[in-house]
Amino acid sequence: MFGNFRHITRDFLQHFVSLNPVTKKGQMAATKYIFVTGGVTSSLGKGIIAASLAKLLQARGYRTTIQKLDPYINVDPGTLNPYEHGECYVTDDGAETDLDLGHYERFLNVRTSQANNVTTGRIYQSVIEKERRGEFLGKTVQVVPHITNEIKERIQILGNSGEYDIVITEIGGTVGDIESLPYIEAVRQLLWELGDSNAIVVHLTLIPYLSAAGELKTKPTQHSVKTLMESGIKADILVCRTEHELTGDIRQKLALFCNVKPEAVIQSIDASTIYDVPIMMQEEGLDTVTLKKLALPDDTPPDLTQWNEFLERHKNPQHEVTIGLVGKYVELQDSYKSILEAVTHAGALNEVKVNVRSIHSEHITDASLEQKMKGLQGIIVAPGFGERGIEGKIRAVRFAREQGVPFLGICLGMQMAVIEFGRNVLGLEGANSTEMDENTPYPVISLMEEQKSITNKGGTMRLGAWDCELQAGTLAQQVYHGQTAISERHRHRYEFNNDYKAEYESGGLIASGINKETGLVEIVELPSHPWFIGVQYHPEYKSTVANPHPLFAGFVKAVLQHKKEQSNARVA
Ligand code: GLN
Repeated sequence: MFGNFRHITRDFLQHFVSLNPVTKKGQMAATKYIFVTGGVTSSLGKGIIAASLAKLLQARGYRTTIQKLDPYINVDPGTLNPYEHGECYVTDDGAETDLDLGHYERFLNVRTSQANNVTTGRIYQSVIEKERRGEFLGKTVQVVPHITNEIKERIQILGNSGEYDIVITEIGGTVGDIESLPYIEAVRQLLWELGDSNAIVVHLTLIPYLSAAGELKTKPTQHSVKTLMESGIKADILVCRTEHELTGDIRQKLALFCNVKPEAVIQSIDASTIYDVPIMMQEEGLDTVTLKKLALPDDTPPDLTQWNEFLERHKNPQHEVTIGLVGKYVELQDSYKSILEAVTHAGALNEVKVNVRSIHSEHITDASLEQKMKGLQGIIVAPGFGERGIEGKIRAVRFAREQGVPFLGICLGMQMAVIEFGRNVLGLEGANSTEMDENTPYPVISLMEEQKSITNKGGTMRLGAWDCELQAGTLAQQVYHGQTAISERHRHRYEFNNDYKAEYESGGLIASGINKETGLVEIVELPSHPWFIGVQYHPEYKSTVANPHPLFAGFVKAVLQHKKEQSNARVA
């Protein structure tokens, strides 16, 4: 990395110095930056640590946001299979992003946007576009400085907006990865430019426990800190993931060998719920040491009243229910992350422990249907793409509809509800979505005109926030507390085919939410059923600890009601 420095010309450095208010005027930068890196292994939960720290800072009154830098070459994770990268999270402005942004929104109750997620693909795309426009005429375009400058610019976009006191930037991957090097170099430069106490590094590592030796081991952490040092970065704070309590000796050893103050060694022990992590980080003093390093006042203790109320309800449920989540990516927990978290928020609100049984839609056959649905008091049919597993989803919808089991269909789940009703109630044999069967005699779900000419797959779906008008007197409107206009996030290409709307409505499945400008159906419901709603959008993306989503809240309430009725019926 350092070898490339010789390519930076004097012109470039002068240009940079004149641009940078910190170095020029010696003033304190308006926004403070926290970089979160990871060492030893992936999957340590950097996103949760970053979100927890952000929560603590926010609870002390600092306007805080988080950004994720992902080192892969996809322009966004929209084209990644959920098996590869977990769920794709969608923001109001229609960005398809890393699922960590979901944690940020759920913890902070602050909206994120395209600027909060940057990938190597996007960085290169932008640099290459600039090169083609002639913005670097005469120059050799290189990783340093062009790629690193682009990264630095992206990091500072949020800070320069003036909306935040603190920006936390999480660097994806593990230090030492080839892919992460330009990001690490950009962070090194920014630390140097912004100066001490304007930018710090929090390094998350693993302290493995060797059961044969009965010991916690610090060596992998020492090595990852050393790897960071080789790139010119000194960790200010170490957050140590561990399955066992760190002893005083271990903390001292980590401090000494990793060159950090003892109070900057923070233990992050396994938690029973991710929502405990902010509290655990506060007990360890992560927020205090962070503020000290950033030279910010720490006299106002964090106000976590609302958070603690949520935790209290979450941990002390009065009731228990079991719902089925029918999908085809059930092997990987992260594939339906936002749905599971939205259910957790709704459970806490209703003081209900909601057990979620993941059901693989491919395993639901006519023969296994009854047994798979046994013991469920509610059914969610999940979003998805492609043909695999859809017949199982349709069977699950039929079961919910016929048995009066509360049903929530999300995106593809709503489309399956429409197909099921078409085939089994309206007698439209072979009804389907043109995504699954181009030649279906009844294309009840089909492409919008605008989508027909699109050939590029990346970023071309109906994405982000769209308005929806709720029809008076419907269950949907009741669930949304009587509101008439809502806005929800989308990520799909296919739509309810309005040619069939009249037939469906007279048959009993009504459109209770519509986008007025386009006439597109956003919500369908079955008035003859206790609680049956399908939504073309993704309500799960907007559920937060502070604001559980009304649709999930209403669903869990209906599920509880259904359970009570079931047991009353049994008693009678
Ligand atoms: N595959 C469907 C579509 O593109 C549904 C997408 C989804 O569930 N997010 O319309």
